[in-house]
Amino acid sequence: MIEADFVLRHAGQLATMVAADGDPLGRIVDGALASRGGRVVWLGKDAELARAVRLDGDELDAAGACVIAGLVDAHTHPVFAGSRADEFAERQAGVTYAGQQSGEHGIMRTVRATRAAERERLVELAVERADRFLSNGTTTIEAKTGYGLDLPGESKSLEVLTALAGRRPLRVVPTFLGAHVVPFGTDRLDYLRVLTEEMLPAFKGRATFCDAWCDEPAFSASETRTVLRRARELGYRIRLHAAQLAPGDGPDIAAEFQAASADHLEYATAGQLTALAAAGTVAVLCPAANFTTHAPRPPIEAMRASGIGVAIASDLNPGTSNSESLPYAMTLACVAWGMTPVEVLVGATSAAARSLGLDGVAGCLCVGSFADLAVLDVERPEAIPYYGGVNRVIRTIVGGVDWQPS
Ligand SMILES: [Zn+2]
Repeated sequence: MIEADFVLRHAGQLATMVAADGDPLGRIVDGALASRGGRVVWLGKDAELARAVRLDGDELDAAGACVIAGLVDAHTHPVFAGSRADEFAERQAGVTYAGQQSGEHGIMRTVRATRAAERERLVELAVERADRFLSNGTTTIEAKTGYGLDLPGESKSLEVLTALAGRRPLRVVPTFLGAHVVPFGTDRLDYLRVLTEEMLPAFKGRATFCDAWCDEPAFSASETRTVLRRARELGYRIRLHAAQLAPGDGPDIAAEFQAASADHLEYATAGQLTALAAAGTVAVLCPAANFTTHAPRPPIEAMRASGIGVAIASDLNPGTSNSESLPYAMTLACVAWGMTPVEVLVGATSAAARSLGLDGVAGCLCVGSFADLAVLDVERPEAIPYYGGVNRVIRTIVGGVDWQPS
């Protein structure tokens, strides 16, 4: 008998997200799952559970609800203070997102508010965001800094992420995004020197990934290469905001550095996507940011043709996507871009986990994986994006523990 300390029973459909028998979702009808110490030890048909597993712990009856591996959000900016709701309204009146990056508005406005906020206030705000991630079925996030943009500000942001991980069960993978933009009023060369000679060495080991924004209002191709070269020397893994606002070299650079992810990619070419696929890079798409900036549709058909892995992310941030909901992002990707429900389900679980180096551990359910689950009031997993704009998640389990909002 297999010993377990948590069991989930009677999942109407249990989507393991490990393809099996021609089903890309690897679903088990009337499924059950057992875990011990936060990891899955057994899964199969509910009718077979009693013969296989001895439980000393909690049992949760899903009562026929749909259960999927906890959602994985591969692109979020959860450490910030302040609001930019007025900029959202300005864009509806015709102002472009790029046109808002002037210093008074845009990212720099959030930088000022975030620098001015006490660390504890930023932790409180991040905890509120973590609760919204969890209540929407997300159990793992990639979390970027990038609103400090100096040594003390970026260090404070990383401290916030560490504190967050101690206060909520949400799994947090930290990314250093000092190369978000050059802070207004700072000399570009000086900032690049501080980035590469002070910040990157100081945060080695504290952030898993280094990210940069390679696009017109942010960093040029040669500046991006300078930052990523230094990051690679120091042992960071690489992510890159690329070709979001205009065509450019960002996707080529991501392929060159074998980045774990290249994000946004609205303007990526077919050739760039082929290079990214060959480099093993995952395309992380951000439908809510695309939608609210009235950006063109990413080249979905060319992505399919290239064979690149495609993740769907919330891109939670105060400027273009103030939402922690992956189901909402999945709905947009289906409705606005013509992605299929299966594509967005894979995108919000196993493909996202792969971009974080968590394949086989998060975003899927198999023996040895995290016992992270979202229980939803939907008929089947493909119906998750069908329910647009309402939260159908009824339970979120992290590491075999039923999370309840406090
Ligand atoms: Zn971003």
